[in-house]
Amino acid sequence: MSKKIISDLDPTVLSGRAVLVRADLNVPLESGEVADDQRIRASVPTLRLLTDAGARVILLSHLGRPKGAPDPAYSLAPVATRLADLLERPVRFVPTPTGPEVDSAVADMKDGDVVLLENTRFLPGDTKNDAGLAATWASLGDLFVNDAFGSAHRAHASTSGLAEAVKARGGEAVAGLLLAKELRFLGDALAEPERPFVAILGGAKISGKIEVIDALLPRVDRLLVGGAMANTFFEALGLETGASLVEEDRIEVARETLERAGDRLLLPVDCVVASDIAPGAATRVVERSAVQEGDRIADIGPATRTIFGREVAGARTIVWNGPMGVFEVDPFAEGTVALAEAVANACDGGATAVVGGGDSAAAARRAGVADRITHISTGGGASLEFLAGDVLPGVAALTEQD
Ligand code: ADP
Ligand code: MG
Repeated sequence: MSKKIISDLDPTVLSGRAVLVRADLNVPLESGEVADDQRIRASVPTLRLLTDAGARVILLSHLGRPKGAPDPAYSLAPVATRLADLLERPVRFVPTPTGPEVDSAVADMKDGDVVLLENTRFLPGDTKNDAGLAATWASLGDLFVNDAFGSAHRAHASTSGLAEAVKARGGEAVAGLLLAKELRFLGDALAEPERPFVAILGGAKISGKIEVIDALLPRVDRLLVGGAMANTFFEALGLETGASLVEEDRIEVARETLERAGDRLLLPVDCVVASDIAPGAATRVVERSAVQEGDRIADIGPATRTIFGREVAGARTIVWNGPMGVFEVDPFAEGTVALAEAVANACDGGATAVVGGGDSAAAARRAGVADRITHISTGGGASLEFLAGDVLPGVAALTEQD
């Protein structure tokens, strides 16, 4: 990456400085508490680097999709509490993203202090990339650190807008440690993968991922396709898919992709089907050519687990996005769990694996193998857009390395 990283700066220049940090603290809440703190934990190294250096940290993030107005259901207050525990230092929460309360909290800061502003999306200007809003935040500090990989694919006022606004005032906009790490792992996997390079794609939909297939196909040695995505490919092969999830308007694209891919693209050879995707549903394992009317394909079958497992075991670089089946529902988790284990085993043997996508990350954790996988990306959409070869606006706006 040619962008400047926070660790490129001499720590002495950080002491006493007001530093704006955009993190991705967009975590699930349940009854007003943080239900999963992965993203908060992932933000800690950058924050600790800054506080240890004596910077005054003004932290911004969005959470969920409030409609451009304050909504207590999306308050970052519970995040401030959890962050303080993880950082082992106080985090002052300001219940508004801009205004006099923010200004006075910032004016009160001492070296090493952390202030977390309320959800940036409580203001309509954030997602509209409002330049005035970005300038308001930029006036609070003279260094911007973007560590929000999960939001880097969006040009918002608190991401690329703020980077531009800080640079316009003569300051610098640099990547945080997490953002840099994400780009390094994903970038290295694409740029110079150790071979064999195997990509695995699954999940619910083909639509958002066809660009990823296009970008990956020329680079990979094998592309394994599972999940509901495979169903649309089955249709393209003229197979019966019963009542399975299929994207009718993508069958033609799937057909073209199959032609282009040749034997590099592997589809499931068998599936787990049920008439109802529910816990306790009666399931059958069938060859992909034996799916009946009324069947719903909900997982890859055992023969496919073996074939995909063998490909993964032989790989030196692995990129995985999207579960192999409806892993949230017990009878249909086996394919995804087996794949997660195969990926972790490959990593134990020295392979490099990068997992992108919120559900895939959850599946790896559910399989109990997350800590054996080289890198689990904190960004779903962002990692896909990066893999598809798109420029991420939140990255593009950062200052170039000297
Ligand atoms: P990620 O979040 O990792 O990018 P996606 O959001 O694309 O993954 O897809 C995950 C969803 O795909 C899961 O909710 C899972 O239940 C669903 N899914 C996987 N296989 C199937 C299938 N055969 N039929 C219906 N849904 C499926
Ligand atoms: Mg998902």
